Amino acid sequence: MEMLENAIKDRGTIIGDTIVKVDSFLNHEMDTALLYEIGQEFHRMFKGKPVTKIVTIEAGGIAPALMAGLAFNVPVVYAKKQKSLTMKGDVYSESVYSFTKQVYSNVTISKDRLSADDHVLIIDDFLANGEAAAGLINILKQAGATVAGIGIVIEKSFQPGRTRLEEKGIEVVSLARIAKISAGQIEFLKS
Ligand code: 5GP
Repeated sequence: MEMLENAIKDRGTIIGDTIVKVDSFLNHEMDTALLYEIGQEFHRMFKGKPVTKIVTIEAGGIAPALMAGLAFNVPVVYAKKQKSLTMKGDVYSESVYSFTKQVYSNVTISKDRLSADDHVLIIDDFLANGEAAAGLINILKQAGATVAGIGIVIEKSFQPGRTRLEEKGIEVVSLARIAKISAGQIEFLKS
């Protein structure tokens, strides 16, 4: 997606050789016009699938998931990283290792929010090692829901996330795929 690749190149910053910071349009300040197009693009890519719900993980996945939910006209559920006092009753939960924070957190979704009838499109902002997406897949399994696919805004293709998820037989669509980062430059995979 050219508009997204341009935003990453022009407005993103690189930390070390592996981390891309996009606080200027996705992870802190949010570019609403770009996010709207991201939602539309996810809809174009997955519109053949019977999606009943979008699931993501807080906080970075929420904005693109919401825009995708708007495009599909379906609800969006985000997994919480800490069980809140308002979450009464049973929850599905998984321990997920955070690539950027380097800690495990217990990720939860209330049992009321998912059912075995749901066909779920998982959306996240980044794909690195696939930990967050794998955790969400396990939560969906607990609910008996079907995974319709995984939509990622920015995939770092030099990390093993895509392979890990495809090995589970799940379709992964990424709107920007970074082949490598070297000497402060980002190279995208040709789509
Ligand atoms: P994974 O779970 O695939 O290893 O990593 C994906 C998660 O880690 C995403 O939910 C995202 O929050 C965070 N993440 C991974 N790599 C990056 C990155 O380069 N930049 C930012 N901002 N977040 C990242």
